[in-house]
Amino acid sequence: MDDAEDNEEIEMTMTQNQADAQGAEAPPVLYRLEGVTRTYTQKQRVVKALTGVDLEIGFGEFVTIQGPTGGGKSTLLQLLGALDKPTSGSISLGAAELSSASPTALGRIRAEEIGFVFQGFNLIPTLTAAQNVNMALEPLKLSGEERNKRVDEALVHVGLADRGDHLPTELSGGQQQRVAIARAIVKRPRVLLADEPTGNLDESMRDEILTLLEGLCAEGLTLIVVTHDSAVAKRASRRLRLAKGVVTDITRG
Ligand code: ADP
Ligand code: MG
Repeated sequence: MDDAEDNEEIEMTMTQNQADAQGAEAPPVLYRLEGVTRTYTQKQRVVKALTGVDLEIGFGEFVTIQGPTGGGKSTLLQLLGALDKPTSGSISLGAAELSSASPTALGRIRAEEIGFVFQGFNLIPTLTAAQNVNMALEPLKLSGEERNKRVDEALVHVGLADRGDHLPTELSGGQQQRVAIARAIVKRPRVLLADEPTGNLDESMRDEILTLLEGLCAEGLTLIVVTHDSAVAKRASRRLRLAKGVVTDITRG
């Protein structure tokens, strides 16, 4: 893809984001949360991390979650990622009710439908980029040939076709995050959850990663990104704030 095409694609994404922000027809619901609470009890201390969250997130939305430390952002992301269950309330992903699913069912949902990206990249240092991406396919029953094909495609998708043999230490921070994104999308999930994905990157790498994420969103992937960076939030179609366990929509704020 040459630069001109690249720019055109970005512009189309922005236009779509703006249309969404202006309340164009809402997309079908992907996540539905009703009265979700999450309470942690440690020794005698009870912490109400989420206190009754009602929220719908549509297919293909680019949602950011901002808010103060301790506000409940990571807790919410863990619930959306089927890594944890609410103390009360319900949370569904498509047709699956996550709050009552068995550990096996939750594991399958995580393996097939949800990609994760973290601030610290979380690559395995002794494995090459391609091997790191391949790891995500471990739980899926695919042939070795199909796995390799998908890994190659994912690396092309993030612009790292020629870096598959590199170890993480031989890559820049931005490139390592691209590998992490390839690892997240190689299983072709419906949603990508990211906790401060650009927190360790300088501005130009941050913008590159955002452009990549926007492109994936334009192809239909739902993006949910926790961020402290208002430059990241500005590019989302929908901005949420989470403070003291309460979610507010600030898109029109
Ligand atoms: P954020 O990601 O917005 O900083 P968290 O979701 O990590 O917020 O935390 C929300 C609240 O829940 C905080 O008061 C935090 O101390 C508490 N908390 C988070 N995880 C645990 C845990 N495993 N055990 C006890 N308290 C926790
Ligand atoms: Mg956090």
